[in-house]
Amino acid sequence: MARVVVVGGGYAGLATAGRLAKTGHDVTLLERSEALGGALGSVSAEGYTWDAGPSTTLLPAVLRDLFRKTGRPLERELDLVPLETVRTHRFIDGTELALPGGSRSAQLRAVEELAPGQGQGWLDHVAAYTDDWEVLRRHYLEEPWERGALPRELGSLLDSRETLHRRLRRTFKDERLRDVAAHPFVADGHETRNVPAWMGLVAYLEQRFGAWTVPGGMARIGEVLAARMLTRGVDVRLGTRVEDVVVRGGRAVAVRTDHGEVDADVVVCAIDPRRLPTLAGLVERTMPAIPPVVCHVGLTGDVPDLPHELVLHGDPVLVVRTGGQAPEGGAAWTIHGRGRLAEDLLRALARHRIDVRAQVVTRIDRSPRDLVEAWGGSPLGVLWQGRSTVHRRLGPDTPVPGVYAAGAHSTPGSGLPFVGLSAALVAQRVGPA
Ligand SMILES: Cc1cc2nc3c(=O)[nH]c(=O)nc-3n(C[C@H](O)[C@H](O)[C@H](O)COP(=O)(O)OP(=O)(O)OC[C@H]3O[C@@H](n4cnc5c(N)ncnc54)[C@H](O)[C@@H]3O)c2cc1C
Repeated sequence: MARVVVVGGGYAGLATAGRLAKTGHDVTLLERSEALGGALGSVSAEGYTWDAGPSTTLLPAVLRDLFRKTGRPLERELDLVPLETVRTHRFIDGTELALPGGSRSAQLRAVEELAPGQGQGWLDHVAAYTDDWEVLRRHYLEEPWERGALPRELGSLLDSRETLHRRLRRTFKDERLRDVAAHPFVADGHETRNVPAWMGLVAYLEQRFGAWTVPGGMARIGEVLAARMLTRGVDVRLGTRVEDVVVRGGRAVAVRTDHGEVDADVVVCAIDPRRLPTLAGLVERTMPAIPPVVCHVGLTGDVPDLPHELVLHGDPVLVVRTGGQAPEGGAAWTIHGRGRLAEDLLRALARHRIDVRAQVVTRIDRSPRDLVEAWGGSPLGVLWQGRSTVHRRLGPDTPVPGVYAAGAHSTPGSGLPFVGLSAALVAQRVGPA
């Protein structure tokens, strides 16, 4: 049995702590704030509640596996439901695409309706990721990979020079379809010229497995996992900020916190490694991807009937998420803004003829800086800066013996499905007690 210290109690820390405790390790979870969950939490005011970060997830199998491997199956504790529409895109020319999830034929119909004659082109674009998905799944997402000894097919995929920008320009004449395929990256603050083409397989995941949500709020996932820490005997210490990893004799022996040292045989960094001086030098050639400007609004009266997630293309790009909880007769929306934002988000929204300014009961504005401060780093992980970025993230292991890395900043990246996989990779690397 190893003494494992997990640094950071966001989704990554919870998932890693739960997995390692279940396999017999003695696990301590250190979280600097007074709550677990990190970005997978909620924000409340005046009877309204919004998801603070994630409102949907792809790859539900990752979540199901986590629940199974740490205790009771997901279905016994959570209602995880598929969304018929992943998101609705409204383009600058006023046309709209409601992108269906989990169905090839439904996507064909929807794209044909938007751009007659181009549905098959969209399907071909998505299908082109089938082989990439198999290679990544087998050698990169589900199995810890050895730096310097990558299987040939994985190496050539990760090192391919093609960018997502180039792939989309080559594939689609219709700019709207390019915008749809690029959106997950634009939304997360990336420039598609710096994102490798293979990452575009997010479109494949959306089409094949769909997008899923938890009615009542995604924060439920964090709450159930937090309760599971108790069942699994994890020693959770809130209000404890980790300042660094303590290395003696060439390996990690403890972490230093604002309350003193905590001994460890294994340390899992589930925060931005820049925050820990021992690891910071290893990632100095990376940058964080910055969160959007966020505005949570509580509305009353008749508001436009919008889908679960509406993307308003242009500059700025606005995303409206409508799944928050509101008192009777109200609505709880979250608006994200990216790009040229020179005015209030609700005013920018009104330019798209969605004017709810007179119906606001309450609002909470959070700048990218507020969000990074609240979570001690960006939950969007590492900014894509070209094909080498994939080699510059830490994880599942790190060059420091005894230190592992999970979470948005580590392999295989940000977003709940990838973060969930990062925890599974670390658990495999550490192995059972
Ligand atoms: C606005 C927004 C919307 C998003 N929407 C989606 C979505 O719809 N779907 C999706 O899949 N993903 C979404 N994401 C991404 C997703 O939220 C993250 O990738 C994921 O939650 C990251 O989890 P994490 O545990 O790695 O990091 P975090 O959630 O950031 O958790 C890190 C934790 O570590 C703690 N911590 C930090 N420093 C220290 C320290 N020194 N000592 C101790 N503790 C520390 C923090 O307090 C925090 O609790 C969104 C992100 C944002 C910001």
